[in-house]
Amino acid sequence: MLATRGAEMAAMNRVQFQSGLSLTQFMERYGTQAQCEKELEKCRWPDGFGCPMCARKGHYVVWHGKAKTFQCHACRHQSTLTSGTIFHSSKLPLTKWFQAMYFLTQSKNNVSALELMRLVGLCYRTALRLKHKALQEWGANLGNGGAFPL
Ligand SMILES: [Zn+2]
Repeated sequence: MLATRGAEMAAMNRVQFQSGLSLTQFMERYGTQAQCEKELEKCRWPDGFGCPMCARKGHYVVWHGKAKTFQCHACRHQSTLTSGTIFHSSKLPLTKWFQAMYFLTQSKNNVSALELMRLVGLCYRTALRLKHKALQEWGANLGNGGAFPL
């Protein structure tokens, strides 16, 4: 696992896959929603949950259906794993986001939105949005084993 500077600054938090990860290994590790959630939690809060409002760590976990919600002890602000990230307000399951990120970060060639659409099974607009976001954040580093900004 590459060292990440993500812990220094919330804005720097990234999802990063081990470089050279095969598709089979990827599916073993991140093939289910639960695995993706666990990884996302680790990437967002490497030192454990921190409240986005008051930065305190004390929290309860409240489940709203299947959605894991973190409620701050101090200010009672509720946040979910995806709130404040590009995953938020998306109907796309995390598993698909992860697959798209995998292809975007692992491929040596620049993956086009059209390829992404076919590989992951996204609608074209979503693929385009993802690709755009990736280009915006990484520019020239796209496809060189980069990390996906949250
Ligand atoms: Zn708080």
